[in-house]
Amino acid sequence: MRIILLGPPGAGKGTQAARLALGQKLEHISTGDMLRTEVSGGTELGRLAKTYMDRGDLVPDEVIIGMIQGRLKGGAGVILDGFPRTVAQAQALDKAFTAAGTKVDRAVYFKVENEELVKRLSGRATCSGCQTPYNLNTAPPKKAGVCDRCGGKLAQRPDDQPDAVRRRLKVYEEQTAPVLDYYRKAGKVREIDAAGPVDEVYGRLAAAVK
Ligand code: ADP
Ligand code: AMP
Repeated sequence: MRIILLGPPGAGKGTQAARLALGQKLEHISTGDMLRTEVSGGTELGRLAKTYMDRGDLVPDEVIIGMIQGRLKGGAGVILDGFPRTVAQAQALDKAFTAAGTKVDRAVYFKVENEELVKRLSGRATCSGCQTPYNLNTAPPKKAGVCDRCGGKLAQRPDDQPDAVRRRLKVYEEQTAPVLDYYRKAGKVREIDAAGPVDEVYGRLAAAVK
């Protein structure tokens, strides 16, 4: 099974991808997590990417495609979270999958109102160690600032500051929403209501990928 999670920032893609990966033994690939690992490692790629990420812009297609290419070759099932984010990336993905003799099975679109997205992102905190997402308002860790799962330190993302969030929502509408049409034309999209409790959204996601 090769599944793509589509939707605006804050829609819950990372939260649900982690659950689905555990539940269905699929590999969770998040280009955002990959980039943050490069940033915290201080690599050349990380330094380049950070300038785009901090202001809420997309990292250039050729950088992203080069970074993810090697992870698309394996035979195991995958959940792609945060990729593809442009039509050019979707076309590159199709090409890589075709070369590997496989294809995208389903694209699930997470639908949430903008007001709720802004609320979620303002409270988001992520473990710097294992990337588990928390929400300081609605889903805090047991001990303040510490990851329940691995004991790592929680951090709020620079791009979850209000200016960058506004920019990311605009970039989503302009550059990523067309990806939804790309997969709609291919008949692969299932739309889910991604508002409401995490467990309920998970139920809808599990049904959408059956
Ligand atoms: P995305 O990967 O789509 O950007 P995340 O999974 O990081 O989104 O979720 C964004 C924030 O919203 C996090 O703080 C997360 O804990 C919280 N969140 C995720 N799903 C829900 C939900 N169903 N209801 C409320 N908050 C949620
Ligand atoms: P995310 O963790 O998915 O919210 O991504 C955080 C940031 O990383 C985005 O705002 C972009 O700057 C960058 N990024 C992640 N994935 C991609 C992608 N597929 N294409 C371009 N930029 C990306």
